Amino acid sequence: MKALLKYAAGDGHVEVRDVDDPVCRDDQVKVEVAFCGVCGTDIHVLHDTFRNFPPVILGHELSGTVVEVGGRTRAVPLGQRVAVLGATTVTCGECEYCRSGYFIFCGRRRGMGHGVNGGFARYVAARPDQLYAVPDRMSLEEAALSEPFAAIVQAVLEIGQVRAGETALVSGPGPMGLLCLKLLAAEGVRTIVAGTAADRERLAAARRFGAEAAVDVETGDLAGAINDVTGRRGVDITFECAGHPASVRACLDALRPMGRHVQVAICGREIPFPIDRIFYKQLTLSGSVCYTARTWARMFQLFDEGKIALADLVSHKLPITEWRSAFDLCLNREALKVLLYPV
Ligand SMILES: [Zn+2]
Ligand SMILES: [Zn+2]
Repeated sequence: MKALLKYAAGDGHVEVRDVDDPVCRDDQVKVEVAFCGVCGTDIHVLHDTFRNFPPVILGHELSGTVVEVGGRTRAVPLGQRVAVLGATTVTCGECEYCRSGYFIFCGRRRGMGHGVNGGFARYVAARPDQLYAVPDRMSLEEAALSEPFAAIVQAVLEIGQVRAGETALVSGPGPMGLLCLKLLAAEGVRTIVAGTAADRERLAAARRFGAEAAVDVETGDLAGAINDVTGRRGVDITFECAGHPASVRACLDALRPMGRHVQVAICGREIPFPIDRIFYKQLTLSGSVCYTARTWARMFQLFDEGKIALADLVSHKLPITEWRSAFDLCLNREALKVLLYPV
C-alpha cells in the first residue's frame, strides 16, 4: 500500500512510499482508512520538532471501515464504520496514569502517527478497544474529526466544566478553536472568538458556527465586544487555542474576577506572563492535553444524540500524494480542517 512515511530521523525525510500492508494479529482488526485529518503534530513530525520513531507512517485522526477481524476479536462486525483512538496503541497498562485512565502520561506510551504506524495509508491495524462505532447519520469525514474533538470535549466539559448561560472567549480560530466554539455553542455558552487578519475565513466561519462576536484583534475592538456580550463583567472562561503570547495575555485580560483559563494550544517556547493578573483576579489556570477513553465515550454519546454537527468544518479533502499542499494549507491558515484520503 502507499503510505506517507517518515523514513528517517531529522528535519524532512517524509514522502509517500510503497510499504507492506499491516498484518492483522489475532487480537486486532484491520481498518481500511477513509479519511485522516492533518494536524499541527504532523507538521512537527515532518520537521522533527515532535518526538517520533522512524520509519513510521504519519497521521492520527482517522476514520474507516473494518475489513478484517482477528481470530480472537469476533465481537467486531466486518463493515463496521469506526473512528480510531490511535493514542493508546502502546501503553504499559500498569503505571498510576494507565490505571487511572490518564494513559496520555504513561512514560512508555506510543501513539499512532509518530510512535507507531498511523492513518495516512490504506490500512491500519488496531485493537477492538481502540474503535468507536460511528452513528449512521454521521459521515466518515465527520468521524475523522473525533480525535481533535475529543481533546476539546476534555477541555470544555471535563476541565472547563462549562454551564449553560456562561460566557467564553476562544482565542485562536484554527480547527481546534472552531471545534471549541461548536461545543460551547451546543452547551449554551455565549462565545466570542478572537483571531488576526490572516484568519479572515476562519472568523467568518466562527460567525456561521454561532459565535456572539468574531473579532480580528488587529483592526477590531475585542475589549468592546467582550463588554457588549458580558455587560462589562468579563467572560467566565477562556480557551487559548492559538499558542501565542499576545493571545494568552488577551485571555487573562478578558476574564472576570474568579474566572477560569484553559490552555489548549502549545506556545512552543517560554513567554512573558502577567502572573499578577492571576493574583488580583483570583483566576484558575488549567492545561488540557488530549483525553481519556472516558472522554471518547462521552463524545460518542454527544454524536449519538445528534447534538453536534462537524461536517461544515471540513474545507479540503486531498489524496495522501498531495500531502505537501495539505500541510501548506494548514500553515497558511487558508483552510478550516484538511483531510487526506488513501490512494
Ligand atoms: Zn492531532
Ligand atoms: Zn503506563
